[in-house]
Amino acid sequence: MSSNLRRTKIVATLGPATDREGELEKMIKVGLDVVRINMSHGNPAEHKKRVDDVRAIAKKLDREVGVLVDLQGPKIRIARFENDKITLKSGDKFSLDNDVDILKGNQHEVGLTYKSLPYDVKPGNRLLLDDGRLVFEVIDVVGERVNCTVIVGGVLSNNKGINLQGGGLSAAALTDKDKEDILSAAEMQADYLALSFPRSAEDVEYCRTLAHKAGLTNCSIVSKVERAEAVADDATLDAIILASDVIMIARGDLGVEVGDAQLPALQKKMIKRSRELNRVTITATQMMETMIENAIPTRAEVFDVANAVMDGTDAVMLSGETATGHSPSLVIETMGGICHEAEKSRTSRESTHRMDDSFTAVDETIAMSAMYAANHFDVKCIASLTESGNTPLLMSRISSGMPIIAMTPHLETRRKVTLYRGVYPSTLEYSKLDDAEVKALIMERIKSFGIAKVGDLVLLTRGESRGDMGGTNSMEIVKVS
Ligand code: PGA
Ligand code: MN
Repeated sequence: MSSNLRRTKIVATLGPATDREGELEKMIKVGLDVVRINMSHGNPAEHKKRVDDVRAIAKKLDREVGVLVDLQGPKIRIARFENDKITLKSGDKFSLDNDVDILKGNQHEVGLTYKSLPYDVKPGNRLLLDDGRLVFEVIDVVGERVNCTVIVGGVLSNNKGINLQGGGLSAAALTDKDKEDILSAAEMQADYLALSFPRSAEDVEYCRTLAHKAGLTNCSIVSKVERAEAVADDATLDAIILASDVIMIARGDLGVEVGDAQLPALQKKMIKRSRELNRVTITATQMMETMIENAIPTRAEVFDVANAVMDGTDAVMLSGETATGHSPSLVIETMGGICHEAEKSRTSRESTHRMDDSFTAVDETIAMSAMYAANHFDVKCIASLTESGNTPLLMSRISSGMPIIAMTPHLETRRKVTLYRGVYPSTLEYSKLDDAEVKALIMERIKSFGIAKVGDLVLLTRGESRGDMGGTNSMEIVKVS
């Protein structure tokens, strides 16, 4: 079956364009699920205000919107030019030098904010600047100075990023700024914390430890896969996925490090593997890029979004399209329409997930059985009474058209499931109610989604002892009354 509800979730980055009067409300009304706070820009007060606004509007509209705080990470950047920018042509000599004043770059040299660069590169290495728009080849390293030949020239302006082709930069995944920003994320009560440039599972675990210390005890960790090392072998990638709650396919930096041509195959592999390991995925970067300026996307962008949906991504992300675009709400609406249409295709709804697996936990067994039953019998939806959101998460790893309503008393859980494909949050305060009252309330909630009417069958999962995490141990099929 397919319902009128879109399954794929939309993550949108906030920025100056979404600060415009009334825009955020429009974005939420047309279907925004999760906001991304990009710590590479702006200041803590600005971020905090945006999050407060999101939560106030969501409350007013009786909607849940998740908050994802994206840490800047060790983005390696050049410093600034005396005159803000220069133009280089191929064959030019150019140097990156720690000893050049960070405000005084010129036609021949520029300073660095990442001081290890001269120690990380060797002659023959290729450096990609500004997301690969310019390419330098390292000739030699003399002390703190990296001398290069320009292979592909162009305009180079202040603070542009540097990537080393093939990866291998030594920067630790968490900078001092990131550590500060984790404290801000705790003040904002972030639902998701995204770690940029992790190299290994240890980086992810360290980030989780810092998040816990800051008070973000239930916060999910998003690993942005954007370094060549992270995808160099299957064992490392698996370890990163398992250490994380969510994987972001960060196609911008990853494409620069491994070459864009490798991205489509990597995206499919990461989404498939994450689902197998019960993890969630976000597909990011340039999905609707031309809509920063235009009112419609290109055909290629339509295909890109639809293909990510067919690959099985939980969410698709917007960056500049909403942060600085001309109409953030229009992009969200357009993207939502593409997702919803792509979800109707068979590839989006069929699954061989765990066909030959043994299950290891009671809640997992119920979750898998419920999906099997729901997909093979005429029920309109699954209602899952959940404390942590884990049962709906497990269910949503199976590609299906079945709406999964996560009914929970916990606000944190409702915000968390905003990212899970096909899962919709609903408030259910059930600790003080008897069984008949709980059932009546469940029916009311189901009807409010407009996917089942009186007389329809729905599938219900729950645990017998309320308040227990991981306690789901029963399923029943009930008639909507
Ligand atoms: P960024 O991450 O936008 O923070 O760089 C996403 C990406 O690299 O694709
Ligand atoms: Mn990135």
